[in-house]
Amino acid sequence: MAQRRLLELLRVPGNNVCADCGAPDPEWASCTPGVFTCLQCSYAHIYIADISRVKEVKRGNWSDNEVEVMERMGNKAAKDKYEKFVPPFYYRPTMDDCTVLREQWIYAKYQRQEFMSVDKQEAYTSGFLEGLLWKRGRDNGQFLQRRFVLSEKEGMLKYFTKMEQGREPKCVIKICEINATFQPHKIGNQNGLQITHLRDGITRNIFVFHQEGKVIVDWYNAIRAARFHYLQVAFPGAQDQDLVKKLTRTYAIEGYMEKSGPRPHESFKRRWCTLDTMDRRLMYFKDPLDAYPKGEVFIGSMDSGYSVHTELPPGIQNSRLPHGLAICTPERNFVFACESLSQLKEWVAALEDVIKRPMSPQDYAAEARFVHKR
Ligand SMILES: [Zn+2]
Repeated sequence: MAQRRLLELLRVPGNNVCADCGAPDPEWASCTPGVFTCLQCSYAHIYIADISRVKEVKRGNWSDNEVEVMERMGNKAAKDKYEKFVPPFYYRPTMDDCTVLREQWIYAKYQRQEFMSVDKQEAYTSGFLEGLLWKRGRDNGQFLQRRFVLSEKEGMLKYFTKMEQGREPKCVIKICEINATFQPHKIGNQNGLQITHLRDGITRNIFVFHQEGKVIVDWYNAIRAARFHYLQVAFPGAQDQDLVKKLTRTYAIEGYMEKSGPRPHESFKRRWCTLDTMDRRLMYFKDPLDAYPKGEVFIGSMDSGYSVHTELPPGIQNSRLPHGLAICTPERNFVFACESLSQLKEWVAALEDVIKRPMSPQDYAAEARFVHKR
């Protein structure tokens, strides 16, 4: 009887997707807040045990009272209650996001209730954040504590080697050219965050983490907030929802390919490649955790003479990998090879997405000042 009512409730609009990540067909429920969730998100609800009871919809042992809560609340009403004051720049995770982002979203919503009023959001709304993060050393790969300072007013994120005040920062990153993306697998830490920026036109990566999920997610959202306010000034009159897309970005595709040099018969070298679709930038690194790429390729549009082919130009020596692709730019050809046909298809599709997109005036400016390091 209870199950039949619950199954009917699952068909109510809003209840047919996970309340927290939007995954289709939720099979679990958190019966204190009264939301239907996917299995993944239900794990986070278990850890807020004092406010949340987690049950499987089809097999759980449900009391009438619990079913009534689900009926009264449900995903739509819960969203109105728990997400009432989510700032526009705040990152709402999807089913494809990493655990720390999903977990902290759930804790922020139901446990800390950060979005039921605006007074618990200082960490990411005040325009200033300072604290210690573990940063991977460029040369030895060891993580060391560094003091980071984010200042929206200055438009900068800085970090300091020495803990004392007043010292010169080791690095200054402009908010206008920063990107942050969670990379738990690459960094080998579930709270690992990659911060990327341009230094003299060349990409530079730093890798950081904090042992507490809340702290690293607050940093991520503080960076997004600073970028949001910078973009509001840079593009007056733009719609918030268009600016939100430009705050941070995950890379369309990353992985190993082999790359050959510009001269015929040059040998292939294994490179870690990252495609930044928004920035029209293909970067290749010796190691996934390198600070600087070995080189970068600007990916323009079809109309500007860029194309991608799976037929290699004549004279290119065969790699031991049979699945090659060539990126042709007005300047020269870049030749890569993949381990499998499926990888080749993924890379070609991702590159074609960029090439098919017309270039904006900003893209032409970026192309003109692009640095091809090799
Ligand atoms: Zn979910």
